[in-house]
Amino acid sequence: MAITPMMQQYLDMKEKYPGMILFFRLGDFYEMFFDDAKLVSQELELTLTGKDCGMKERAPMCGVPHHAADQYINRLVERGYNVAICEQMEDPALAKGIVKRDVIRIVTPGTITDQSALEERKNNYLLCVHFDSKNAAGLAFVDVSTGEFFTYEVKPADKKLADEIARIAPSEILCSDVERLRLLAGTWTASVTSYPESAFKTASAKQALLEHFHAYSLDVFGLEGMRLAIGASGALMRYLGDTQKNALEHITRVQLYTPSRFMTLDATARRNLELTEGIRSHNKRGTLLGLLDHTATAMGGRMLRSFIEQPLAQKQEIDARLDAVAALKDAHMITASLHDELRGVYDIERLMGRISYHSINARDCLALCTSLSRIPSIRELLADVHSAQLDAIYETLEPLTDVTELLEKAINPDAPLAITEGDIIRDGFNEELDKLRRASTDGKQWLSDLEAKEREETGIKNLKINYNRVFGYYIEVTKSYYELVPYRYTRKQTLANAERYTTPELHELEEQIMGAQERAVRLEQALFAQVREFLSERIERIQDIATALKTLDALISLSIAATQYNYVRPQITEDGAMEIEDGRHPVVENGMHAAEQFVPNSTKMDLDENRMLIITGPNMAGKSTYMRQVALITLMAHMGSFVPASSATIPLTDRIFTRVGASDDLASGQSTFMVEMTEMAHILLNATRHSLIILDEIGRGTSTFDGLSIAWAVVEYIADEKKIGAKTLFATHYHELSELEGRLPGVVNYRVSVKEHGEDVIFLRKIERGGADKSFGIHVAHLAGLPRPVVVRAHEILSRLEAADVNQASIGPNILEEHPDKAPAQINLFESPAMDLVEELKNIDVMAITPMDAMNMIFNLRERARRI
Ligand code: ADP
Ligand code: MG
Repeated sequence: MAITPMMQQYLDMKEKYPGMILFFRLGDFYEMFFDDAKLVSQELELTLTGKDCGMKERAPMCGVPHHAADQYINRLVERGYNVAICEQMEDPALAKGIVKRDVIRIVTPGTITDQSALEERKNNYLLCVHFDSKNAAGLAFVDVSTGEFFTYEVKPADKKLADEIARIAPSEILCSDVERLRLLAGTWTASVTSYPESAFKTASAKQALLEHFHAYSLDVFGLEGMRLAIGASGALMRYLGDTQKNALEHITRVQLYTPSRFMTLDATARRNLELTEGIRSHNKRGTLLGLLDHTATAMGGRMLRSFIEQPLAQKQEIDARLDAVAALKDAHMITASLHDELRGVYDIERLMGRISYHSINARDCLALCTSLSRIPSIRELLADVHSAQLDAIYETLEPLTDVTELLEKAINPDAPLAITEGDIIRDGFNEELDKLRRASTDGKQWLSDLEAKEREETGIKNLKINYNRVFGYYIEVTKSYYELVPYRYTRKQTLANAERYTTPELHELEEQIMGAQERAVRLEQALFAQVREFLSERIERIQDIATALKTLDALISLSIAATQYNYVRPQITEDGAMEIEDGRHPVVENGMHAAEQFVPNSTKMDLDENRMLIITGPNMAGKSTYMRQVALITLMAHMGSFVPASSATIPLTDRIFTRVGASDDLASGQSTFMVEMTEMAHILLNATRHSLIILDEIGRGTSTFDGLSIAWAVVEYIADEKKIGAKTLFATHYHELSELEGRLPGVVNYRVSVKEHGEDVIFLRKIERGGADKSFGIHVAHLAGLPRPVVVRAHEILSRLEAADVNQASIGPNILEEHPDKAPAQINLFESPAMDLVEELKNIDVMAITPMDAMNMIFNLRERARRI
């Protein structure tokens, strides 16, 4: 038995698109076969059926209706699959032989454009990475839903790539050397697509770019000579061509991205500071973004997010943004009106994307028109608020009257969603269309006139003229009047209780009406295509407007936050000195109940005497909050935001590092301590004098002496100007570290004060100079209800421990000699020391010890073995 031609066509197509799920259009369904069918039926909980295909066994099959396909595709792509959509390229009714089919689009995580699959206030980036044989890489990233497209080069790749990926946060990464990517960039959540090396070659990549941008040289984009950037962006463009198969005309330029414009933040700092996503919640509630986002538009929301994700690194740019925010804040009445106007602005960037994808509909055009018609009033309001950046926005916001006028005239304000249904073009826009429409409305009158006339002539009182899809217009006569039917009626259809007829006159009317309707719909589509063309010729101008509007929106959002939360403008200084007067943690302060009061704290640091603050204090005193507050205020200043303080001078900072908390990195299966040390190593290797380092309780994951020694050594290393010398806040429960003040230059002790009030500890939340009182842990244990004798004994042990010299590491059972019976007994079960060792080895619970413990143990065992 031979395989059916359709199945052969399917298999051929499948071969051309390996590794993808093929949605194969059959009539009103997309069908999947064989392994695809099994996979999809499982992933989407669809019924698995079968189809005869000429082979011995029926092919496993499952399908989804084509009108609902988007949601199924979205779900598959969300799970990391790529979907190739194979359409019928001709009308099956007219096709001779097998219907022609072809893949019209491939949907991947980085190229999805369906509105319901995209987050409104978040860019969806596809990133392309191109390595060279040395240690450099070209990067290009694009958001195909908005058309934003950037490229740049980084060096050395092994040090910088991971941070760049954390900054861009792509949903898909394209690369020819996936192994190297994994090696250099560690873990990420994006899906990875391998792409052939040949596409990255300079000549081929360059050609792809020149073709797309209709350019003669890459000079216009400032890319000439940047081999790696060209390789990455050209390959990316080619990949878009492969998968989107559209003109992609909304990608109008490739912009040279300058990472030196921005502060570097690694993935750890982004996560720990909860900038856009909560550590636990994984959404924007309780984050800096959630707090500062007062934007009126989705575009503005994306812009503000990028302000937070990419804090600025250059004083001039920061000041320009601060000037704008200050001007808007001062003019708060005008700013409120601007904000209102912006609420009427839709997502112009993504509307432009839909022009390229030919998925723009009449309602989108109306949304664009409404949005653009806000420009004149926005401009007028803006005329009275001045800063360099606001003036530039004002200049860009030239009203696009030609566009709004055309859209107003052309598009029916009550247009339906589908562009195939007609009624999308407004009356009065096109004479021919009006005439055709009149024919179809007048037609209704003609028909009712004819109906009246036929009733009169035949005497059939209930004679009706009706319409159905199969038979067109007909005259219907019920059974009881059959004898009155005249000869000129021709029978069309017989029903149980009635007969249906036509007449030459009715037939002619039908031709006129139907013809007019059909022609009207076709004409409407042609006119709509013209409107789309008109818009697509103006994409760049409209994109410029969109950029101006979203920037304005984000700046306004910052000014609203500044007013609402009582922030001040920070001074940016280049001399490395920080002075925060009464600073607050923006998010904690905002989340407090009305009855609570956030206690402000000041911070003074510089590159000199006050480089390293060692912060001690009991649990829950507010150490972590204080350190994050300093980091967040620094970051906010760099994004051009006002800050929660009564005054603030913030030094220009190249990076913020954090090592906060002790959350297990479960996903990668590493132990807490290993993660902690890896992060610590990363900080020590990358921090500079102009970085800000936040260290929260390092060394906790191992034994006390281990931990203390590591913490001590780390402080020495960072404090050393020749090594790092960065401004550092270090919270620790090792009060021994307070001894470093006076011994190491730059180290200063602070503590978070608490007050004892009878049995209670009152948290004052005030940071003050000095080391901490040491016994509060025991106090908390007492409060928690530990039995009295345990607490008393703990006090006793503590005072002995304090008396002992830490450096001699002599603390052991001997310190407890007053109670020798309670000390762990050191009894030799075996005479031979060798047997001791064997027994000890046997008893090691390998899964329960930290790597550091293991090292210590091996060291110990070896020392003892040597002595045998
Ligand atoms: P620590 O790190 O010292 O254990 P945290 O910084 O986690 O303490 O603070 C514990 C709690 O105290 C926080 O959840 C917060 O609600 C509250 N808190 C911290 N700092 C302040 C402050 N300055 N004013 C008011 N409440 C604060
Ligand atoms: Mg803490």
